[in-house]
Amino acid sequence: MGKTLLEIDEDLPGLGQFYCTPCARYFHDETTLSNHQLTKDHKRRLRTVSEEQYTQAEADLAAGKTREVLAPVNVLRRPVS
Ligand SMILES: [Zn+2]
Repeated sequence: MGKTLLEIDEDLPGLGQFYCTPCARYFHDETTLSNHQLTKDHKRRLRTVSEEQYTQAEADLAAGKTREVLAPVNVLRRPVS
């Protein structure tokens, strides 16, 4: 995770500057954040987050929807000889 400029928020730990996106948690400083990123909880969360990203096609399939594939119009309109 690269360094991103976060909005300073005095109500958050570390003024909201040390944020773990997958865990949605704020940390007091860079060291605490780095240590957190080595924990099992973080790695598990990271894996879960990466698995949660589906394409719309996969989501439809999971919901029992199938996509009807129609033949191109020009094939259907071929004149009968
Ligand atoms: Zn984390």
